[in-house]
Amino acid sequence: MTETPESASRERAHEWRPERFMVIVAHPDDADFGPAATAARWIDAGSAGWLVCCTSGDQGGEDFAADPLVLAAAREAEQRAAAAVVGYEGLTFLHQPDGALANDLALRELLVREIRTFRPDAVLTTDPETLFHDDGGINHTDHRAAAIAAVDAVYPAARNPMAFPWLARDGLAAHNVRRMYLFWSNVPTVRVDVTATIGRKVDALRAHASQIKHPEKLDERMREWAKEEGQAIGAEAGEAFRLIVIDEDEDERSEETETKAASEER
Ligand SMILES: [Zn+2]
Repeated sequence: MTETPESASRERAHEWRPERFMVIVAHPDDADFGPAATAARWIDAGSAGWLVCCTSGDQGGEDFAADPLVLAAAREAEQRAAAAVVGYEGLTFLHQPDGALANDLALRELLVREIRTFRPDAVLTTDPETLFHDDGGINHTDHRAAAIAAVDAVYPAARNPMAFPWLARDGLAAHNVRRMYLFWSNVPTVRVDVTATIGRKVDALRAHASQIKHPEKLDERMREWAKEEGQAIGAEAGEAFRLIVIDEDEDERSEETETKAASEER
């Protein structure tokens, strides 16, 4: 096949897939506005996924007289419905306070417990270095706290048997997460083609009825965003990540070799 100049300059779609992955987020709906289509793609291909929500979104409204516990219960129900659409094996709510999430040792221990229980190859979370989004706006304090807590739980705590030693004594052996995929990053390095699963992302988002102000515009809005993220790989829909490889494996080396060979061809 003859390559057009446009396709030759195109970035290659990211194909590596973890057998097991965990998405760690601050609020119900973050995972669905985030990497839901990638999660659905991986699950369809045989991966097992687990979702961890640090808070239950009890400040996610505009009525100061509302009961935050009622809102939290509603949002947990919404997230359970959305997680079923994506196909996660299950989800955990850590019931931390919305708007006041702190990357402290207590949260780190809770996350290490989750990681050592599900034993994912990859953890997906927001980019903790995003304070301001390049395209405008401030990244929520809870997003940053959940993200840096996830990073600190992955490395070194989850893999160090001497970190929270009572966990290992309870049978939760140390576990090496090999990769992190950071979404909502200003410096993405890989893009996943999610053309086949972008519809599932929209359907999952519809489950968050308390948070979607204009459901009639949701489909168009999400497809537009995914189109922008997929442009560089020539996909109708994409999701972009900043990939952090902690431990290289056979796949990683061959992928690097491929990329190198491809760039040498040019
Ligand atoms: Zn959020």
